[in-house]
Amino acid sequence: MRQVTLMELKQLALQAKSDLWDQAQSVGRDVKLYLHWSAGHYGQFFDDYHINIDQDGGIYISTNDLSAVKSHTYRRNTGAIGIALACCYQANTNDLGPEAPTELQIEAMAQVVAVLAKALDLTVDIYRVMTHAEAGNNLDGLNPGYESNGYPDGKYGPGYSCERWDLWFIPGGAKGEGGNILRGKANWYQQQGGI
Ligand SMILES: [Zn+2]
Repeated sequence: MRQVTLMELKQLALQAKSDLWDQAQSVGRDVKLYLHWSAGHYGQFFDDYHINIDQDGGIYISTNDLSAVKSHTYRRNTGAIGIALACCYQANTNDLGPEAPTELQIEAMAQVVAVLAKALDLTVDIYRVMTHAEAGNNLDGLNPGYESNGYPDGKYGPGYSCERWDLWFIPGGAKGEGGNILRGKANWYQQQGGI
């Protein structure tokens, strides 16, 4: 893992831009950003995500190639970037546990989304920037579902099997609102300019 600044991240996104768009368009859609938490400890990073964000808001990359296909979001990894907060060990759907997302993590994730979306020409909306909880609920209708894997409707998030519910809510926010809060913050950071 290598720590990077937002400016470095922007450069990496620009370098990967054409490959990401080629991949995404090969499956008939725009590039996607997927927002996760690791369900691990603060300071514990995983290769499955392109970007890991620590409790102090530090941004770490697992690869210099943001177009590399990684395994972060079921059936959605082509032309997609996975971004995770290092947190939520022992979290459950009523209690985010002893290592809940910190304010610094949430703000850093919103800034990362703002930078990546701008560099990659993506509108920050639910069709291009989704939490894993939202992807698990198939809120964009993209995942057709696969009988063989037990998700005939493409749904495995909160309200269904609840296997994945990353960022369904964050501290101080209502259930189901995590994605809206993060997208709102990302749009706000873009409007401030300088990103
Ligand atoms: Zn996830």
